[in-house]
Amino acid sequence: MRIVVLPGDGIGPEIAAATSAVLRAASERFQLNVAIEEHAVGHDSLRLFGATVRPGLLEIVRAADGLILGPTATFDFKDEQSGEINPSKFFRKSLDLFANVRPARTYPGLHNRFGAFDLVVVRENTEGFYSDRNMEQGNGELLVTPDVAISLRRVTRHCCERIAKAACQLAMRRSKRLTIVHKANVLKIGDGMFLDICRATAGEFPGLAVDDILVDAMMAHVVRQPDRFDVIVSTNMFGDILSDLTAELSGSLGLGGSLNVGASHAMAQAAHGSAPDIAGRDVANPFSLILSMALLLAWHGERSGAARFESAARAIENAVAAAIGGGRATRDVGGQLGTAATGQAIVDILASNDNRPV
Ligand code: NAD
Repeated sequence: MRIVVLPGDGIGPEIAAATSAVLRAASERFQLNVAIEEHAVGHDSLRLFGATVRPGLLEIVRAADGLILGPTATFDFKDEQSGEINPSKFFRKSLDLFANVRPARTYPGLHNRFGAFDLVVVRENTEGFYSDRNMEQGNGELLVTPDVAISLRRVTRHCCERIAKAACQLAMRRSKRLTIVHKANVLKIGDGMFLDICRATAGEFPGLAVDDILVDAMMAHVVRQPDRFDVIVSTNMFGDILSDLTAELSGSLGLGGSLNVGASHAMAQAAHGSAPDIAGRDVANPFSLILSMALLLAWHGERSGAARFESAARAIENAVAAAIGGGRATRDVGGQLGTAATGQAIVDILASNDNRPV
């Protein structure tokens, strides 16, 4: 399995290094024969090649079996004509990674005020309110006068149907419960279409229990009783916001792993950003990217039929749980270790027998 790693900006290089170390250890332990290939992206790439995503990188990624993208400083990238491309958008659109799957669960030994839960946010990833990806040409944000801005949102039947189907299929593999999160009371056309399509799609899955909640009310419901939810499907921006909340509710945004999935490619990516406030201090939690990488291995295993990849993914998830339970983690999740030492703790657990299910 050839995996491309793009470390990114801010804490990206630190958490990517820990993730690559865990990937190498998992490869050895489960005989995955993984080859890691690292390239620059974001500010490093801008300095070296004049573009945050250099020409030719897409072809390298396309030819690989998976991509691990570290967080990038997207706020800094304002002018595509000057090479300032949002790498996250670039790969999601170019590889048509339409589903962003963002699990969030609590861990034994990690205090949380909201009770145990285990859920997945399935977020549409290719259109919606993200103005840099919802137009064939140009941008969905317009400055009409210096004092008037318009931001356009795109919602299409095709994208609603495929994200609804992906969420229903996942819900059927889990506990057969799906919650649709929307704002169809105000965005009557766009979110109305999304809601109708999600309901109709869910109707094709016998035994699937479906409810729907307005996105603003959802913020209260998920804090009040997170264990009420299993699979949650939403449009792009609502899903993005909601999944940062569910990651934080699980203990830390630094636990927020995610997989961007399309028909033939997948990209592991932490749910959070480049965290410049803690960059370079060896304090960032690498579990978000390590768990994302585990999702990528499981995806590859499912597609290729090679069970050892799924075994490796489970072992990594169990090792993260064991590390959290044993306090061998970063401070945001109750430990005392730095980023690199936390990655090493997972390597050590994988190498030992101490990776039973938690
Ligand atoms: P952020 O997600 O980077 O950070 C929010 C808070 O969470 C900060 O306090 C940060 O220190 C903390 N945090 C994030 N990841 C953590 C980790 N692994 N361990 C411990 N704490 C962690 O959001 P921001 O500061 O608003 O954004 C910073 C930059 O990241 C901006 O340029 C933004 O545009 C970009 N961004 C990129 C992505 C991406 O690459 N996918 C996603 C979101 C934001």
